[in-house]
Amino acid sequence: MTDIVAQIDQWVEGNREEYIKFLQDLISIPSPSGEEGDAASFLADKMNEFNYTTARVDALNDAMGTIKGTGGGRSFLLNGHIDHVPVGEMIDPYSGKIMDGEELGDHGEVIYGRAACDMKGAVAAMVLAGRAMNELGIRLKGDYMVAGVAFEEVGGAGTKSTIIDSQFLADVVLIGEATDMQLSLGHRGSMKFGVTVHGRACHASAPERGINALYKAMKMITKIKDELAPSTPVHPIYGKPSMAVTQITVSPEAYNVVPEECKFWIDCRNHPGFTANDLFQGLNDIIDELKADDPEFDATVIPTPLIEERSFSGFYTDPDENPVVGEVVEAITESYKEPRKGIWTFATDGRFYSHLGIPVIGFGPGEEEYAHTQRDHIRVQDYLDTIKVYVGLACKICGVA
Ligand SMILES: [Zn+2]
Repeated sequence: MTDIVAQIDQWVEGNREEYIKFLQDLISIPSPSGEEGDAASFLADKMNEFNYTTARVDALNDAMGTIKGTGGGRSFLLNGHIDHVPVGEMIDPYSGKIMDGEELGDHGEVIYGRAACDMKGAVAAMVLAGRAMNELGIRLKGDYMVAGVAFEEVGGAGTKSTIIDSQFLADVVLIGEATDMQLSLGHRGSMKFGVTVHGRACHASAPERGINALYKAMKMITKIKDELAPSTPVHPIYGKPSMAVTQITVSPEAYNVVPEECKFWIDCRNHPGFTANDLFQGLNDIIDELKADDPEFDATVIPTPLIEERSFSGFYTDPDENPVVGEVVEAITESYKEPRKGIWTFATDGRFYSHLGIPVIGFGPGEEEYAHTQRDHIRVQDYLDTIKVYVGLACKICGVA
C-alpha cells in the first residue's frame, strides 16, 4: 500500500497541469439539471479514452464507466452528479479560472466556477483516479465504477435510473458531495408536508360574515413553531430535526375577499426517531386541540407519499454495523490524513443505495457553505489530493490483484 501511495502521489503531482485542465474543461460545459447531455458525453468519451472497460451514456444523460476487476474482490462505485443549480448572478460561471482563494473568503489557489464544489471537482477526481490506475498498471480484483449522474439537484431521477434501468450497483458506494476532505456517513431525511385550513369566504368589507382561513392558519402555524418544533427528540448522531413553515397560499386570491382556504407547507429535516408518521400525528394533534378550543377551526393534513413508502428518507452507515467504515478510515489516513467522521447537512443520492442495504460513505473536496453560491470553488490541492484518496479507497475496497 505504501508503494502505491507514493506512486500515485508522484503521478498526480507530475500531471498537475493536465488534471487541473480536465476539471476546467468539465466546468466549461454548462449542465444545469435537464441539460446534462454534453457533460455526460464528455465524461464517457474521456473514460473510453482512459481505457475504462466500458463507458456509456443512458437515456437520462447519466455517464457510467467501469474498469473490470480481475475477480474475487468487492466492487466499488463512486457516484457524483454532473448537473448543477442555475448560475444566477455569478460572474464568469463557466470560466473554471484559477484564483487566489482569499478573494472568495478561502485560502490558497482555487478553481472557480459553477459546480466546482457541487460537484464537478469530485466527479473529475473519480474519472482521473481510474485513469491513474490504468496508466500505472494497478489492477484491482473488484470492479471500479464511476457514475456521473443527472437530475440530482431536482430529486435524483438520474441515480434512480442507473440503479433501476441499468442495475449499476456495487458492494460499496462512495458519494463525492462536498465533505471538505472529511468522512461523511449519512444525512437527515427530508419531508414536505402540507396543511389545508378551511374557512368560509365573504366580502372583505364585512369580515364577520365569513371565517377567515388565513387567521385560522396563523393559529396553527404558531403552534407548529412554538410547540411542535421545540418538542422533537434529539438524536445522538443527527441532532434535532429542523422544522420550518416555508410557503403559504390563499384561495380565492383577491384582496377584497375573506379567503375560504389557506394552504401552507412545512419543510422538515428529520431523523429515525422522528418519522413522517410522527409529524403527521403531531400536526393532527394540533388540529384536534384547536378544534376543541374553537368550533370554527377546520384543517386537513395533506398526506405525503413518504408515509406509505418509508418513514425515514435519510441514512446512516453505522461504523459499528459496517466494518468497511474502519477500512475506509484506514485508506484515507494512508493516502491523505485521518478524517473526522460526520454527516452532511443536506440530502444526497446516497440514500437510494443505502436503502438497498449497501454501505455508503462520503468523501469529497469543497465545503458545503460554498455550494449553490456565487463563490462556488474548490481548492486546487484538495482536488488533486482527492484523486489520491479515491485510488487509495479503490485499492483497499476492491483489493489489488
Ligand atoms: Zn450536490
